[in-house]
Amino acid sequence: MLKVEGLNAWYGQAQALFDVSLSVGEGELVVIQGLNGAGKSTLLQSLIGIGPRAQGRITWQNEPIQTWPAHRRARAGLGFVAEDRRLFTGLSVKENLWIAASSGSSAQASPAQRFERVMALFPQLQTMLHRSASQMSGGEQQMLALARTLMTGPRLLLLDEPCEGIAPVLVAAMRDALLQLAREGVAMLVAEQNNILAQHAQRVLVLTSGRMDSAA
Ligand code: ATP
Repeated sequence: MLKVEGLNAWYGQAQALFDVSLSVGEGELVVIQGLNGAGKSTLLQSLIGIGPRAQGRITWQNEPIQTWPAHRRARAGLGFVAEDRRLFTGLSVKENLWIAASSGSSAQASPAQRFERVMALFPQLQTMLHRSASQMSGGEQQMLALARTLMTGPRLLLLDEPCEGIAPVLVAAMRDALLQLAREGVAMLVAEQNNILAQHAQRVLVLTSGRMDSAA
């Protein structure tokens, strides 16, 4: 489904990724671990097309996509949730969700069907649809960020530390929602340091100073 071969990335002269290769199969949950600064965010950003200067081969559904801009990768089914969530904090929960529905992949489900599914996955959000995103806790914002990406109908989710820095009760809700999505066949590549999803993953890869330790 997704294949990465020999990916290098640079911030100016500083190289952040060195010859990284990995793959994510249909419906697979793959976790990337590594210390702060190991290159996890840079890797996910490079895959979605918002990273720094990069070189290497990225294949999605048998098509090379490394020259595609981010919006084209999103339309092709790659969904990304950044560590900093990137919500429209001046808009309500509902508005954040419906704005996303107009972008993303042309999946089979209609926006209304996706909205129903997202509400079923995150019942917590249903009670705060008209609240401004700026008035939500960190964990609630993290849920909204994931819900918003789900509104685009992704086939592969790229998640940067989805369970980091949120209340334990919301960590459990987030983990359960992600495992439910995995059971429904959504593939995931998740960067995390806290071992929440790693124990459920088909594979755990380790990045050390921009290099992949284990065979991907
Ligand atoms: P963290 O968990 O702390 O986010 P990470 O594993 O995601 O760490 P990256 O954020 O990808 O690591 O950082 C990889 C390397 O690239 C680090 O050496 C970091 O200092 C550097 N780096 C990251 N972002 C930038 C940037 N915008 N400009 C310059 N260097 C950067």
